[in-house]
Amino acid sequence: MQLSTYLKIYPCPDQPGMNLVYSTVRSSVVLLPDDLLAAAREGSLPAEEQEVLTRLGILTPERAAEQQRMRTIFDIPRPNAPFNATVVLNLDCNLACPYCYEAAFRGRRYMSAATAGLLVATIRRERIDQGQPVRLTFYGGEPLLSLDLIRAIARPLRAAAEKQGVAFSFSLVTNGTLLNRACAAELVGLGLSGAKITLDGPAELHDRSRPFVSGRGSYAAIMRNVVEVYDIVPLQLGGNYTRDNYRQFPQMLDDLLARGIDPARVGTVLFAPVIPKAGERVPSDFNSGCACSYEPWLMEAGVWLREETIRRGFPAPKPKLAACMVELENDLVIDHEGSFFKCPAFMAYPQLRIGSLAEGIGDYAESHNLALWKTEECLACAYLPLCFGGCRQLTLLRSGGIDAVDCRREYYDTVLERVVRQDLAYQGTKQDA
Ligand code: SF4
Ligand code: SF4
Repeated sequence: MQLSTYLKIYPCPDQPGMNLVYSTVRSSVVLLPDDLLAAAREGSLPAEEQEVLTRLGILTPERAAEQQRMRTIFDIPRPNAPFNATVVLNLDCNLACPYCYEAAFRGRRYMSAATAGLLVATIRRERIDQGQPVRLTFYGGEPLLSLDLIRAIARPLRAAAEKQGVAFSFSLVTNGTLLNRACAAELVGLGLSGAKITLDGPAELHDRSRPFVSGRGSYAAIMRNVVEVYDIVPLQLGGNYTRDNYRQFPQMLDDLLARGIDPARVGTVLFAPVIPKAGERVPSDFNSGCACSYEPWLMEAGVWLREETIRRGFPAPKPKLAACMVELENDLVIDHEGSFFKCPAFMAYPQLRIGSLAEGIGDYAESHNLALWKTEECLACAYLPLCFGGCRQLTLLRSGGIDAVDCRREYYDTVLERVVRQDLAYQGTKQDA
């Protein structure tokens, strides 16, 4: 047995002779004394310890074979893996956020009834009738401006899935202004399983960065809805901060607590930076769960906000094996005209369109440079299971093409140990030994 390639080992200054060993494949963490760690390195551990550490992903029979498995991890057929489609219902919005990346093409553009019908027929024929579970994410613009379309898509798909005995659910990426209790209750009946809502800090900050089209602030309306629906819809709360305002963001969490929200019943809270780029800013809502950036203040802000979040009892996402949608065969974005993309941000790049409901999915291995991370350097990198080449959108913004990895080594060198220790202190871990 050998130590896995995909480990980080952090000595514990407050416990001399002890080491925190974290597996980036399994998200498991174990506290090992120096002598056991040395025995694990030499392959001379007693059988019982060896068995436990193998189960936790700390030991592997052979590192070369482990790296080879990682190289082909997305090629392994997963018969019951769901089809995950992000469905863009419109490009319209009732808010006018100054940083909105869709501003250039935002307008009264909605998915037609014919496209929605084709979407239902295609998903039913190609997925549900084949026994594949389906998870949709309704996206915009603002998806709740298209409530009729949500009904027209979710109702028949839910009925078809029930008949076929496969799972169907959907979530929303919404600004939250229209998600009142009546709306949420109706949608839960159609398969709503979660909603991602953006709150850019406390009222004064949020109202400046996310006003209604009329100019009026949207904070009060969103907060009212969060309080009304969080017990029936798991919510992911996020927000987009800047260097000047991130320290005020926890006030929004305090406001939620003051309004009687039970933080343990909120899905997760994750704040992300608004990243300026050549006078532009990257997407706000979807991006917040995916991309990250590496300026020192940003790394510090992210870890600080995470600690402020979990310290108040709100769950924060834990690091886990994850990859860009580009790598995941079953993940697709379907825009309001029925065109296919591999990330919502790619809708701004016509050359990254990979097909449509009418044409089917084309071959995007070359245009999206799928083998990007299959290098010796990445396969030997402990962060590979968390990274897989990083965010293609950030690479696009930097160079105009998907031509290089978005290397997260410096980012994880700076933040991962603190995040693992935060989880040990506040959130528990998958397996402690
Ligand atoms: S390119 Fe990939 S990682 Fe980046 S925002 Fe899009 S889906 Fe997420
Ligand atoms: S891109 Fe960088 S951080 Fe990511 S796996 Fe490769 S070397 Fe590691």
